[in-house]
Amino acid sequence: MKIGVIGGGQLGRMLALAGTPLGMDFAFLDPAPDACAAALGDHLQADYSDEQQLRQLADAVDLVTFEFESVPAETVAFLSSFVPVYPSAQALRIARDRWFEKSLFRELGIPTPEFADIQSQADLETAVASIGLPAVLKTRTLGYDGKGQKVLRSAEDVAGTFAELGSVPCLLEGFVPFTGEVSLVAVRARDGQTRFYPLAHNTHEAGILKLSVASSDHPLQALAEDYLGRVLDKLDYVGVLAFEFFEVDGGLKANEIAPRVHNSGHWTIEGAECSQFENHLRAIAGLPLGSTAKVGESAMVNFIGEVPALEQVVAIDGCHLHHYGKAFKPGRKVGHATLRSADLASLRQGIDQVQQLIGH
Ligand code: AMP
Repeated sequence: MKIGVIGGGQLGRMLALAGTPLGMDFAFLDPAPDACAAALGDHLQADYSDEQQLRQLADAVDLVTFEFESVPAETVAFLSSFVPVYPSAQALRIARDRWFEKSLFRELGIPTPEFADIQSQADLETAVASIGLPAVLKTRTLGYDGKGQKVLRSAEDVAGTFAELGSVPCLLEGFVPFTGEVSLVAVRARDGQTRFYPLAHNTHEAGILKLSVASSDHPLQALAEDYLGRVLDKLDYVGVLAFEFFEVDGGLKANEIAPRVHNSGHWTIEGAECSQFENHLRAIAGLPLGSTAKVGESAMVNFIGEVPALEQVVAIDGCHLHHYGKAFKPGRKVGHATLRSADLASLRQGIDQVQQLIGH
């Protein structure tokens, strides 16, 4: 079976690393000449709107998926007329736009911060008057890793901010005084069968994920599964979907969903019976899903900007290096380490050792 992937970054690369042993082949559509997934499949170097190349991709593969949600909706619609695309164009349309996404949460009765659609500086001022400060202004689309957003704490922060974010449609959200951030990764098959991984505790720095630790018997697991289950069923979703939550007042508030394999699920490569990457491929290919059970204790540490020396990383007990083969650049995710241990104390020790390597 040949899988077409829109986007050729590290998520595409890790999909191919999981699918190759299943006998799958891969083709990646990505305009970047140095797309890091290209080492693992065919690389169609073309723009996402290049219909000739899209047609060529559709002819060459059995089905198409994507590794990032900012794919233009027209690209997915065009491909869908020639080849099955999972997740669907509708799921992508909602998940890529913060307004649609938060409106869906509201419709499904999932708690989320107060929010307002912002089309102008005047809208922003009106919304600040009703939501209050602090608040967070985010572009509705294309934001990632803390980009395209600004925390507003005082009236001075509000002045001119709509233009500062590019005068594009935005969302104003109430600031959540969260005690923690968790994410739930789930996989849903074509027949609706759904499996959930354990919740991961996430730590961000400057908007970028630094550390995910898989939980055991988290008291909010069932609630998170209920919320994510509502979204999956509503969208008749096929594939892996991640849901990021704020922990607040002993409950959960929805932050965002990602219609793809997710950074906070990278621990599953060595830390779960079947990784999020393999399960995504199984789901879209119509295969039985694999177990999402955790194998021991597990965590993931991101390498941002550079990857420490191989010999230092693999010298740490239970530590596995994932180097994305990308050029090192400040603020860029270039690799991660997955840690696996028999108990939490040795997991903590491993995390500390990895963090020392990257100067924490
Ligand atoms: P996002 O791109 O929406 O996931 O935001 C990136 C990070 O910014 C989150 O993981 C939080 O740490 C922080 N953040 C985003 N929205 C809010 C909010 N409404 N209140 C407090 N912190 C937020």
